[in-house]
Amino acid sequence: MTTNHTAGSPVSAALFERALAVTPGGVNSPVRAFRSVGGTPRFMASGKGAYITDVDGKEYVDLVGSWGPMILGHSNPGVIAAVTDAVGRGLSFGTPGAGEVALAEEIVSRIAPVDQVRLVSSGTEATMSAVRLARGFTGRVKVVKFAGCYHGHVDALLASAGSGVATLALPDSAGVPATTTADVIVLPYNDIAAVRTAFELHGSEIACIITEAAAANMGVVPPAPGFNAALAEIAHVNGALLISDEVMTGFRLSRSGMFGLDGEIEGWRPDLMTFGKVIGGGLPVGAFGGRADVMALLAPNGPVYQAGTLSGNPIATAAGLANLQGLTAEVYQHLNSTADVVGDLVSAALSAEGVEHRLQRAGNLFSIFFSADQVSDYDQARQQESFRYAPFFHSMLDAGVYLPPSAFEAWFVSAAHDEAAIDRIADALPAAAKAAAQGIAV
Ligand SMILES: *Cc1c(COP(=O)(O)O)cnc(C)c1O
Repeated sequence: MTTNHTAGSPVSAALFERALAVTPGGVNSPVRAFRSVGGTPRFMASGKGAYITDVDGKEYVDLVGSWGPMILGHSNPGVIAAVTDAVGRGLSFGTPGAGEVALAEEIVSRIAPVDQVRLVSSGTEATMSAVRLARGFTGRVKVVKFAGCYHGHVDALLASAGSGVATLALPDSAGVPATTTADVIVLPYNDIAAVRTAFELHGSEIACIITEAAAANMGVVPPAPGFNAALAEIAHVNGALLISDEVMTGFRLSRSGMFGLDGEIEGWRPDLMTFGKVIGGGLPVGAFGGRADVMALLAPNGPVYQAGTLSGNPIATAAGLANLQGLTAEVYQHLNSTADVVGDLVSAALSAEGVEHRLQRAGNLFSIFFSADQVSDYDQARQQESFRYAPFFHSMLDAGVYLPPSAFEAWFVSAAHDEAAIDRIADALPAAAKAAAQGIAV
């Protein structure tokens, strides 16, 4: 699998050497290390629109978008101007500021179930705090989560947690005490019968169900019609809360995220929601919010403690607000049609080479499974012929298209992906599909 891909990237290779000496695995987040595709990670130097350029000067069409935040494209003028303006006024005060109020108002105005929101600095903090709040509100301890759903690296939620963990083939993380995950019930995604059974057995002890609004950290696995609605109903009948994790999907799939394609139409609501990625515009922002009576329990109003030195940071909130303000109805239309076009191109190229695959979508998020059948849960996701992904990925990379360096990650389009960017993807695909067809099981 690990052929020598460093030849054309001497500056990246040299940086990686230095990084390996001072940072575990040479990276600050595991998937960046290219372990599941082999070769040297590309160190990026700059980004503009749909393109990123590495330290060797090679340009790529970017289909990762920093895992979601760069939904308007890189170096978006509106976001850069807002950040530059905020920087001119100072970096952090540790006091309340106007920017965090404006960002909270924008979130609350877009997402009906969110009466109040608390800003944090990452998606992980958001889910960690939401689970603590649900436990504080209900006075219960147990948490239901789904295999393959990733909610950040919260100890309790690192049981069967999808991509990063799947990629590393770690069933769980070392360093997480069994006592911590003992109160977490892990169920197969899209399996309502399993949820009903869990509540029959433990209903009075379950504080919350936490789920990705649309699973996109085991590849993209959309909820079956009615799945999220049923989760809300079962939770509510049993006095538990539903936490919908929209860290990836929030403000991406529609102006009100996956909720806008689901609960808003079907008429049900989660009790708490978590956000990240898009709401930071590329700077560290996360958020959790929901029902006013639940949020009322948070410090300083209530007994559930939660805090952050840099929470609501003025630079980060300026970036986030500008990012959200750039997300017009036209942008969402463009994201959807771009996902249609790119998805169809990939699928056509693979079909032309006779490679069995499924293109799976949740709004404008999509991924490819090298699988003959529809994938609806984590067991099925892991059965795909993921050995085809590394040759596919490297062929695209060589041709100047940066894909997620794992077969279990979503692909991200942006407002800046125009015809020229799509043409480059189209030109790269035939050879990559051929490489995938020739992939060898290891
Ligand atoms: C990315 C992600 C997280 C974690 O967010 P971080 O900012 O990386 O801590 C949590 N939940 C989901 C659904 C995510 O995609």
